[in-house]
Formats: sequence, C-alpha cells, structure tokens
Amino acid sequence: MTEIFTGQFTQQEPIPQAGIDAAMAVLTHGRLHRYNTVGDEIAEAALLEEDFAAQTGATYCLAVASGGYAMTTALRACGVGHGDTVLTNAFTLAPVPGAIAAVGATPIFVGVTENLLIDLDDLAAKLPQARVLLLSHMRGHICDMDALMALCDRAGVTVIEDCAHTMGAHWNGTPSGRWGKFGCYSTQTYKHVNSGEGGLLIGDDAQAMARAIMLSGSYMLFERHRAAPPPETFAQIKYETPNISGRMDNLRAAILRPQLADLPRQCDRWNALYRVMEDGLRGTRGLSLTHRPEAEGFVASSFQFLLLDWPPDAVQDVIKGCAARGVELKWFGGAEPSGFTSRYDSWRYTSSDPLPQSDRILAGIIDMRLPLTFTPGDCAQIARIIRAEVEARAPV
Ligand SMILES: *Cc1c(COP(=O)(O)O)cnc(C)c1O
Repeated sequence: MTEIFTGQFTQQEPIPQAGIDAAMAVLTHGRLHRYNTVGDEIAEAALLEEDFAAQTGATYCLAVASGGYAMTTALRACGVGHGDTVLTNAFTLAPVPGAIAAVGATPIFVGVTENLLIDLDDLAAKLPQARVLLLSHMRGHICDMDALMALCDRAGVTVIEDCAHTMGAHWNGTPSGRWGKFGCYSTQTYKHVNSGEGGLLIGDDAQAMARAIMLSGSYMLFERHRAAPPPETFAQIKYETPNISGRMDNLRAAILRPQLADLPRQCDRWNALYRVMEDGLRGTRGLSLTHRPEAEGFVASSFQFLLLDWPPDAVQDVIKGCAARGVELKWFGGAEPSGFTSRYDSWRYTSSDPLPQSDRILAGIIDMRLPLTFTPGDCAQIARIIRAEVEARAPV
C-alpha cells in the first residue's frame, strides 16, 4: 500500500479566542490607529511593545508593519544608507537582501555550512568589508552566537539579528534577538505568531531606538510609547530623523498579545513535531540531517534536510514523488526561484562573487513547513513517505 498524506502544509491554527475577543473590542470602539486613544487609555500597540520587551528581556520594543520594515528601520537607525555595504547570509529569504537594497546599500553574502549556519570562517574573512552584519537565523538555525559576537565585536561590526524564524528561541539561554544591537521579528502568518502582517524590533540602545521610533512614523507622539527611551532622548533626534511610516495598528496588536503569552507552549509543540520528523528520517540512505548542538534552543517551525551531492534530476524526482503523495517539499537548488524559495544568485539587483562551497550545500537543501495543525502522527507519516521516496532514488 502506498501511503498518501492528506494534510495542508500551509494551514495555520485559528486565532485564539482571547485574540478574537480583543480584536472585537478594538473593532467595536473603532480606534485602530495606535495614537488614537481616549483619556488615559493605553493603545494595544503600546501594550504589545511592553509585553514583548518583558518577554525577551529587552529594554525597548517597537511594533511595526512587517518584519522587512523592522529590518530596514534597524539598518537606517544604525546609520546604514546609500552606497554602504552590509554583510548577510547567502542562505536566507528575499526580504533580507531586500531590506538592505531598500536603504540603498549593497549586500555582501557570507557562506552557509552543512548545518545551515553562517560560515564563521567566511564571515571572519569578510568582516573588514562592512560596518554592519544583518544576521539571518534562517529557518531557525542558530550559529555559535558567543563565537559570532566575539568576531564582530573585535572587528567593530554592528550585528542586527533577523529573528523571523527564531521568536522564542535562544542560544545558551540568551534569547535570539538579544545578542545584536537590534532584534527584528515578523508576525506575518507563516511565522511564530500570526497577525497577517506585522513586525517587532527590540534593543537596548536608547539613541538607536529613539531613531527607530521616529522613523516608524511616530510624528511627535513618541511620548505615547511605553517600552521606549525617555522623551529627552528625542530632543535632537526628533528634528534629524525622517518619518517613514510603517506603524503597527491596534487591531493586529490585539490579535498578537494572547498569542505571545502562549508562545512557550507553541514552541514546545513545534519541537515535539520536529523530533518526530528527525527520528523518522534518521539513517535514511542518501539523506543528511543537520546537527543541533545542546546550546541551541531552537524553535522548529520548519524542517530541513540535505540531499548532498545528488544529481539535480534525482532531487527533482524525489520532490515530484513526495508531491504525488501529498508531501510538499521546497528545494533551494532549483534552477529558477519559485514560491518563497530563492538563492543569493537569484537576486540579480545585487552582485556577488561565486560561493562554490555554499553552492554545493544550497543545491542539496530541502525545506518543509511544520505547521501546528500537524499531529505527531502526521509527521511520522510524512517521514515514512520521504524516507521511501529518497531511498528509492538515492545514488549508490
Ligand atoms: C518572513 C521573513 C522576513 C520578513 O518578514 P515579513 O514580515 O514578511 O516582511 C525576514 N526574514 C526571513 C528569513 C523571513 O522568512
């Protein structure tokens, strides 16, 4: 009997009832704009910022319109602009080089290892070429952050973290997003909390966060922010910083607050699914899993494995074979970018020296969503299907 999986790889869970109730309250009073408050009312957006600052241990937090906007704002607040260069991962998604391009800067891509981490040797070699590293914890894989920060601190390179896939994760007990000057998060539907679109920015640097708040479109209403630097920090910054509107609204903030409160439980559920996938695929001929060190407190909202050094046609056949049995896999090695999947050499508005070692790895990366609507039984079945389809075609 050939097993077929009938679940949906893109189906998220519903918004929790507490989020629906909070959203209905905002819709009922009609004050959706974050600065539209009456009396001593505190806007949901300001409360969300306080919640997330407390949850991550950050001094400041700013809620914005998207994860991409959070990254461009962080770059601008760090003084990155036209003609600058920014280091970033060769293995990431399009919004990351897009954020660098949005401020008129040019990405310099750093290679990826077989464990899907930024290559620290390649990073060390390229550090002299830029003042800022936009570090993408792509697909939730967190590199040795102690080692990375030591390298960047020594070189005087500012780190901005893209935590789109690491909300709730940590390295060695310190939350992802708390290592760099800024941590940038997305609250878009496919990330760890879901408000359709949205983003969060955290940090401890008062001057940089004051600039970010002005940039986000606070007009002269920055005093209404609560997880924010004191008003005197804005004395000069309010004259010097352009307003580039990208605010979070109260409706999205209301939907997000109960989800954030529930994040630790959701992270445990994701990781339980991940372990079932990992156990089901371990020892599959021709397939390599990534090693996850003890210090990496990851949140596995997706799953990756490698078909390393396979002929492209054989990889394509595995993907087709799995798709025919209801298992949707994405391949980073495809000749053309498709869906959400693209590679550093697909972003032709940038130019990059070839990265042959990374090309070999990218050519083998297979990526899969792990939505919380899956059960552990679903994951066990998906793993059986992948194992069968891979072993049937594994090169000898
Ligand atoms: C989704 C994503 C972002 C940006 O998120 P948006 O909210 O969609 O702008 C940034 N980095 C990575 C790696 C992502 O997957």
